[in-house]
Amino acid sequence: MKPKLAVVKMTGCAGCQMEVLRIEDKLLDLTGAVEIAYFYMATSANRHGPYDIVLVEGSVSTPRELRELKELRDGAKLLIALGDCACSGCLPSIVNWVPPEESAKVYERFLEIHSRKESFQRVSPLSAHVRVDLELRGCPPNRDAILEALKGALLGIRPFLREHPVCVECKLKENACLLVCEGRPCMGPVTAAGCGAACPSNGRVCEGCYGPMSDANASSLAEIFARRCGLSQEDIVRKFRKYAGLMPAFSKEAGGKI
Ligand code: SF4
Ligand code: SF4
Ligand code: SF4
Repeated sequence: MKPKLAVVKMTGCAGCQMEVLRIEDKLLDLTGAVEIAYFYMATSANRHGPYDIVLVEGSVSTPRELRELKELRDGAKLLIALGDCACSGCLPSIVNWVPPEESAKVYERFLEIHSRKESFQRVSPLSAHVRVDLELRGCPPNRDAILEALKGALLGIRPFLREHPVCVECKLKENACLLVCEGRPCMGPVTAAGCGAACPSNGRVCEGCYGPMSDANASSLAEIFARRCGLSQEDIVRKFRKYAGLMPAFSKEAGGKI
């Protein structure tokens, strides 16, 4: 019998699920190896769990999501956090630092939003609540990493996750450094590789969406942002808070633990 695969959404933008769909041609091969039992964005023939392999997109922000996550964990052989929201809180977690009256300004009738009515005070990553077998970082993780993780799940091997910085990939592409040459605030030196230096290769600074690399020296980069790039303290906090401010390696520069 083929293992049952589920792709489940919690609090996130659905961009990670889109990236699963981007596997396209390989997705058809995958259906030969697994039964796609639940994937709302791809099929209307969704089945109840338990599932063997679960990809969870999004962070936890409501009691319903927490209940669902625990049920999924109980039934799953392998639970994979799909993307930054699931791994580190990502953009939804910015609300943790913002007073409710401030975040309410984003929407005209904020308090009428269903999920907001019942939501927790804080948004949290999956690992704050359950054991996570594999974290696929990135906003979103790229399709090759997702495919590698799924193949690894079927073969019972752990995929290679890159812990070196984006700068290594950037150098391999022979890009001129935006930080050194142009004084632009690039998060590449403290961000885990895996995207192939997608942003610097297109003339944009890395915003840190793969989260901290191993042994990231965030305080040193924050100091360079202030001295060399002229960023204000407030902007530096925003930089580190944006994708992975809840992660210990960035939390001090993101404005402290909350
Ligand atoms: S990690 Fe990024 S792409 Fe994925 S759900 Fe969150 S915000 Fe969307
Ligand atoms: S542009 Fe950014 S990622 Fe590339 S080498 Fe410079 S600091 Fe690193
Ligand atoms: S360069 Fe940085 S922000 Fe851009 S995709 Fe890679 S990790 Fe994310």
